Amino acid sequence: MRETGNLYNLYQSLLRSKELTEDVLPFLEAMNAAPDPEDVRKEAAARKEQILKVLGGSDADWANWKWQLKNRIKDSAILAQILGLSDMERKRIDKVSNVYRWAISPYYLSLVGHDYVNSPIYRQSVPDIRELSPGGSLDPMNEALTSPAPCVTRRYPDRMIINVTNQCAMYCRHCQRRRNIGEVDRHSCMEDIAQAMDYVANNTEIRDVLITGGDALLLSNKALKSILTTLDEIPHVEIKRIGTRVPVTMPQRITPDLCEIIRSHPPIYINTQFNHPLEITPDAKAACDRLVEAGAVLGNQAVLLREINDQPHIMRKLCQDLLKIRVRPYYIFHAKDVQGTRHFQTSITEGMDIIRSLRGHTSGLAVPTYIVNAPGGLGKIPLMPNYILQNRKNKMVLKTWEGKIVEIEDRPQL
Ligand code: SF4
Repeated sequence: MRETGNLYNLYQSLLRSKELTEDVLPFLEAMNAAPDPEDVRKEAAARKEQILKVLGGSDADWANWKWQLKNRIKDSAILAQILGLSDMERKRIDKVSNVYRWAISPYYLSLVGHDYVNSPIYRQSVPDIRELSPGGSLDPMNEALTSPAPCVTRRYPDRMIINVTNQCAMYCRHCQRRRNIGEVDRHSCMEDIAQAMDYVANNTEIRDVLITGGDALLLSNKALKSILTTLDEIPHVEIKRIGTRVPVTMPQRITPDLCEIIRSHPPIYINTQFNHPLEITPDAKAACDRLVEAGAVLGNQAVLLREINDQPHIMRKLCQDLLKIRVRPYYIFHAKDVQGTRHFQTSITEGMDIIRSLRGHTSGLAVPTYIVNAPGGLGKIPLMPNYILQNRKNKMVLKTWEGKIVEIEDRPQL
């Protein structure tokens, strides 16, 4: 009798396993159709050599973040030389650059593949004529109205932001803070930062401070160390966070000296912004490894971007690959209605479809929270597909990740 029961269990388990395997097959097929990672690496290596030749640099220069920063590509003639752009493409870039600044680190540009027009790297970094289309606002979050002290943005009860610079390794075309980019790179002055620190010290409910910009890791080591030291001296500050995209756009910035500073000021949470699996390169992984080994906890805040990561299989691959480099997918931001970025926008329905395609279908660790920012600086709204079908007295009707309907008693089963 027991043997019959075991056989039945085994049969049911095998049937269920087959069903689960079938669930993952479309994703695996999409991955099989993706470019071979080895080919991608070779192409990036060749592009790097070409960029070094055009810029007159060496391998040692390439590994130096100050060289990367100084040699950001911001001239359409140089870009055309590297990518082979047509005159028409150059003219369009120049037209956009009269309105919005652009700059790309040599490293990030090396990730643009031969089919540059369709490259998610190109689309995030090179000006697009659609940026000049009307509509959107430069400050949809009304951040200007949530700044009670210089460099401070405060939208929540126990945490706040200090904006320490407007500089970035690259000026992302989808940037939600493009109004801060301006015409020139500018770190916040020490007097303003001192006033921001006074604000933190005088408001004892602030327990969590996010240092961002721009890109917080474009500060000098000395300035960063000074800010972290001051924050550590304020007894009610429990954690520091750093907002940076350099692990993606200029991983050379994650130097041993910088890591030593990170190591000396725990606990530090670093949120970065990988938006596409092609950004997870060996260099990016090495940078994240160095940060993790220095004790930082890494998270990712992707932005949902049309024609870049708005396909469920791309977002799934991104989130799974992030876990492999010890970066926890934290948020997917719905793109705000920022002037000059409307061509990147998706609908919220598309965002919800992506979350539905992740939840249950892959590890919970690989499922970030989908966030829509309320207009007017009213804060983040987490959105999630509805799994509650009915909420009756003492009984809930729920939907599983596969869409199966179940009923659950909604009271303690004493
Ligand atoms: S790194 Fe961040 S702040 Fe800088 S341009 Fe990109 S999205 Fe904007």
